[in-house]
Amino acid sequence: MRISCSVDLINRISPSLSVKKQSKGGHAQLSIGKKPSHDGIKEGTMFLMMCTAKDKNGTKYLIKDNIMQIFGKFVQEGKATVRLKDPEVDLLISKADSLQLKNFLSVLKTAAQGKVLDNVTLSTLAPANSKSVEKPKSKMTIKDRKDYPLRENFPQSLEKLQVSCCRLKRIDTRIFSLRKLEVLNLSENVLESLPEDISKLGNLRELIVSNNLLSAFPASLCLKENFRQNLSLLDLCHNCLETLPLQICELESLVSLKVDHNKLQTLPPTIGRMKKLQFLSASNNCIRTLPASFMQLRLETLDLFANEFLDDSNQQLTDISWNPPSLVECCARMIRKHKLPYDEEELHTHLCRYLDSARICWCGAFCFENSVKYTASMSLKTISPTVSAVDTNGRTDIPVLSFLCSPQCYNRFKQNPYAYWRK
Ligand SMILES: [Zn+2]
Repeated sequence: MRISCSVDLINRISPSLSVKKQSKGGHAQLSIGKKPSHDGIKEGTMFLMMCTAKDKNGTKYLIKDNIMQIFGKFVQEGKATVRLKDPEVDLLISKADSLQLKNFLSVLKTAAQGKVLDNVTLSTLAPANSKSVEKPKSKMTIKDRKDYPLRENFPQSLEKLQVSCCRLKRIDTRIFSLRKLEVLNLSENVLESLPEDISKLGNLRELIVSNNLLSAFPASLCLKENFRQNLSLLDLCHNCLETLPLQICELESLVSLKVDHNKLQTLPPTIGRMKKLQFLSASNNCIRTLPASFMQLRLETLDLFANEFLDDSNQQLTDISWNPPSLVECCARMIRKHKLPYDEEELHTHLCRYLDSARICWCGAFCFENSVKYTASMSLKTISPTVSAVDTNGRTDIPVLSFLCSPQCYNRFKQNPYAYWRK
């Protein structure tokens, strides 16, 4: 019976002298077993043994009548505390597999009461080998194809993985089983697409796929719950993206978005919904106008250098006659307003695309064809205090493409466009 975990050893008599300092969060192997009789110890005496990288031979603690208490409230999180009578120490266990820890504690409890243990493989309490007491590898960087692991698996304990300059055409499926992975960097490869399976990485916070050959970012990926809730950094620089999917605005935890050096002509019309976004760079694209909701962002840094922003953007609104909206438009406005889910299994594809094409009026309402389009020049300084100019002449005003959804919004805009803008 043996588990791998982190153990802090706390001396209860003089906590200041506790071994904790030396072994803080130290990786250890705990075993329950018995040793053949020697040194006057009765045969069959059960011990709890703790081995660490510094102490491979291990320290043994008597089990029978020596366990004062087991604190197992957080066993589901892989944590527990074992309080010993002699010596007066607490073993603070963490980072254990919750199921293994549960079994381990139950065997320990039984052994402490001196009961017979059936069906349990006990350890012989031999010294631990180096591998089992080494801290599990949490970071791996591969920058050369010859270092790519072909025969052995990636360590399951990895939290950060970088595989760059390996001419990867697709992502190795073994990577998707790395449940602890938080940062995945696959920059400088030749990836042409990203599979949906990336969303299996439930703890992924940062995805870096810059310098590849991506022509699209999968919309379906943005709707996967753990991806949506956890991803805080997305780096898509130096690819071949022509558009970003609307659904990218569903990435509610995204703090940093980098899309420099692509072929983007616009940014998603609902980008203003990304309330946590603080760092946005989209330099060296082909953006001509920005969507109105862009003005709702409040960013720490913003870089839109070297795009193709239109020059003359102050377009006068001409009088138009408003026709009643079509039935399709009325339905579509309601579907988007109430966030009703839709997909291609339930609706015809062209209706789905129609719903995707929703424009947002400055009043916040969704509209479709029955709307008025206009562009107005806006200062990027209202969005970010540290905005960089969009060209070498120091320009920071850019054209914003907007829509007005109804005669009411249209009239309010006509009366005072700037007051309305700042609503
Ligand atoms: Zn409106």
